[in-house]
Amino acid sequence: MFEKLKQKLKKVVERITKKTTEEVPVEAPTEKPVEIPPEAPVEAVPEISPEVKPEAPPKVPVEVEPEAPTKALPAPQKVAPKVTLPAPEAPPAKPKILPPAKLQVLRRVVARIARRELTPADVEDVIWELQVGLLESDVAVPVSDKIIDRTKELLMGRKLGLTEDPKKLVEEILRQAIREVLSTEKKVNVFELIRAKHAKGEPAVFVFLGINGHGKTTTVAKFAKYIVDHGYKPILAAADTFRAAGIEQLEIHAERLGLEVVKQRRGADAAAVAFDAIAHAKAKGFDVVLIDTAGRMQTDVNLMDEMKKIVRVSKPDLKIFIGDALTGNDAVEQAATFDKAVGIDGSILCKMDADARGGAALSITQVTGKPILFLGTGQDYKDLIEFDPDFLLKALFSD
Ligand code: GDP
Repeated sequence: MFEKLKQKLKKVVERITKKTTEEVPVEAPTEKPVEIPPEAPVEAVPEISPEVKPEAPPKVPVEVEPEAPTKALPAPQKVAPKVTLPAPEAPPAKPKILPPAKLQVLRRVVARIARRELTPADVEDVIWELQVGLLESDVAVPVSDKIIDRTKELLMGRKLGLTEDPKKLVEEILRQAIREVLSTEKKVNVFELIRAKHAKGEPAVFVFLGINGHGKTTTVAKFAKYIVDHGYKPILAAADTFRAAGIEQLEIHAERLGLEVVKQRRGADAAAVAFDAIAHAKAKGFDVVLIDTAGRMQTDVNLMDEMKKIVRVSKPDLKIFIGDALTGNDAVEQAATFDKAVGIDGSILCKMDADARGGAALSITQVTGKPILFLGTGQDYKDLIEFDPDFLLKALFSD
């Protein structure tokens, strides 16, 4: 998932990281500088234990060679057997003054830690690269602008402290900018809605809208299974009366899942099918009515009018747009048009398993102002997951 965008973000993280860790110039060393390999971690200076105080006078002079005390003795054959040597007072302390080479290392390590504060000029080219990457990934222009502005804002003036890992920090900044475009104030809780309607003795009504061939009927079936798995009883309404195949397809899914379908003949009034299904659900105690509608282009006036009628008649608790993630920005534009026509409450994006770009997923929430509710991640009924921004972020930033 998102392979292309993932690679681009990775590159951007690496480039910004490099800029934050460029060395602060240090005063010229008096001796030949000691090379630190670039990957040398800060911990590479273990000799400096906190208690070492270079200015403290050494208890034992450095030149004392403890292992050579016998040098002062007379020749062994002349030593009387009873003469014993005085034991050395204490084990020799380590030299407390770092040799010059080590000092150089230390100075350079500190220089590397005092990383630079980023300025707009520093990140301009990297930000440009990020912008191109987002647009190539089919992220909508206003959404890409928002991610860019936020990233810049969060990056500016950042100076890394001793303990911070620059790569982690830059990645976290990008994550935050992307998380913000994936979040909405509007929240939808499917089960709260079902329970609220149940308390009134009514079924919850969810209508599914979208373009033909983008995964709508399959998603209605997946969603029905999800409802069943959570202990509720759904009924399906085949309100795609436009195509005979549309009704049949829903029936096949229903049969496989052991569910009931309310249908009429092809060409019947789609709003009437929805109305019947709701009446049946009330009479028979179903918890949820899932209305599959005919796929339509957002430009098809007649079908858009029919959809408005379905919505007027069924008064749904949720109007869910189903988009094909593979169509990128088109899915986002369709969602915006459906939203304008009937006011959607949220989206489900299908075919995320095959989407390398990620543009639709990153854009749809910002453009419509409505949350992504679920993601379709395959062709099986189980391949529907509740939307969680962290899931996308993980997919974008995992190795
Ligand atoms: P509809 O015409 O909009 O109702 O679309 P369908 O439900 O018939 O789906 C069209 C095709 O997309 C079918 O082959 C589905 O199996 C496939 N499909 C639906 N959702 C997903 C998904 O999340 N991932 C993948 N890979 N395929 C999907």
